[in-house]
Amino acid sequence: MLIDKVSRKELGLHQIDLPASEAVEIRRKAVEKLTGTALDALGEYAIDAESSSKRNIENMIGAVQVPVGIAGPLAVKGEYANGEFYLPLATTEGALVASVNRGCKAITSAGGALVRIFNDEMTRAPVFEVADVVEAQRVVEWVKQPENFTKLKKATRETTKHGELVRIDPYVVADNVFLRCAFDTKDALGMNMVTIATDRLADIIVDELNIRLVALSGNMCVDKKPAAINLIEGRGKNVVAETSIPRSIIHDELKTTPEGMADVHYRKNMLGSAKAGSLGFNAHAANVIAAMFIATGQDPAHVVDASTAITSFSVRGDELYASVSMPSLPVGTVGGGTSIKTQHECLSIMDVAGGGKPPGAHAKKFAEIVCCAVLAGELSLIAAHAARHLARAHATLGR
Ligand code: NAP
Repeated sequence: MLIDKVSRKELGLHQIDLPASEAVEIRRKAVEKLTGTALDALGEYAIDAESSSKRNIENMIGAVQVPVGIAGPLAVKGEYANGEFYLPLATTEGALVASVNRGCKAITSAGGALVRIFNDEMTRAPVFEVADVVEAQRVVEWVKQPENFTKLKKATRETTKHGELVRIDPYVVADNVFLRCAFDTKDALGMNMVTIATDRLADIIVDELNIRLVALSGNMCVDKKPAAINLIEGRGKNVVAETSIPRSIIHDELKTTPEGMADVHYRKNMLGSAKAGSLGFNAHAANVIAAMFIATGQDPAHVVDASTAITSFSVRGDELYASVSMPSLPVGTVGGGTSIKTQHECLSIMDVAGGGKPPGAHAKKFAEIVCCAVLAGELSLIAAHAARHLARAHATLGR
């Protein structure tokens, strides 16, 4: 019997040659035997094992479920997202959905959040070894020649219908040249797309310049690691959202004052973050990003890049001006985990599932909504601090 063969390690977990749903069950039962653990709950899932096993996961044994809550409506006034949206949030942190919901209410009562995207590029940065600085200069000059850039752009276009090389930024360190290649990836997050395209580009550079490709990712991309270059240059979507909330709404919905919130923001988000050497100057952007990423099939590891957000609160007359700047928001509405049934449904709640018309419109719309959702989260948490409600809310809702 297959389960016994796998549990006796005569057959590898990856060697079960059966349709995915059967293989998943055999693997899970073998792991139950191997580890002496009952895994019944892991075996209860709604997602399609066949398609997930092809695109998303190896050695699948089941699915972990994360509860999804809904916050909203959130009024968004973007270029792509215009209207009121409900936000699916997958989390196990009690009080998070309630908190975001409260922020949504304040923003929506105040007329909504304005949001714009300032840049939209996904990057991959291969590293090449050169003999010396003279050769490094030759490589940099070659890449900067418009006819060479056009040649590279054309070659990358053969690997993808949607991806488009938009620029290459060279950096030299000792006997290395890093080429930070930036692509418009339309509705895809684009990491597979740009990795495949950059591989083609790197082949041409190796052939033309006779230098060695050390690694297709030279860590200047920067993917899934907190980095100043992403904060400064941007990566994925560079998005800024803002709102102005009158004193009466701050009083009624957030139980505090514009001055109290601006004061907490300055001392906590600005001074505290500066003293700590943080890359993001925000209260809890990662909370909202992680919950929306998990709900919608984004790669959760990109919470690292996305959460380097800068929050800004200041008193303007009788209102609180509140803003969130997110220079590195890597999101997609096609590819990755976005086509898994449950995640696809969550994208559909915001009407951004699949490719947009024109291509890119869905991912941009989604990025605008995520940025406004982060703003809602920032408002609610800072208000909770200003009103000294934080511990009470967590004691009531999170334990
Ligand atoms: P993908 O599923 O590999 O590629 C997206 C696909 O969607 C492409 O085949 C593209 O076709 C197609 N597509 C259809 N309609 C599109 C539209 N409107 N806009 C854009 N593309 C459209 O996904 P990906 O976004 O490139 O990569 C995401 C995955 O990469 C995630 O699973 C993530 O975990 C993983 N990841 C990979 C690396 C890595 O180093 N490879 C690093 C980090 C994360 P065309 O290409 O033909 O246009």
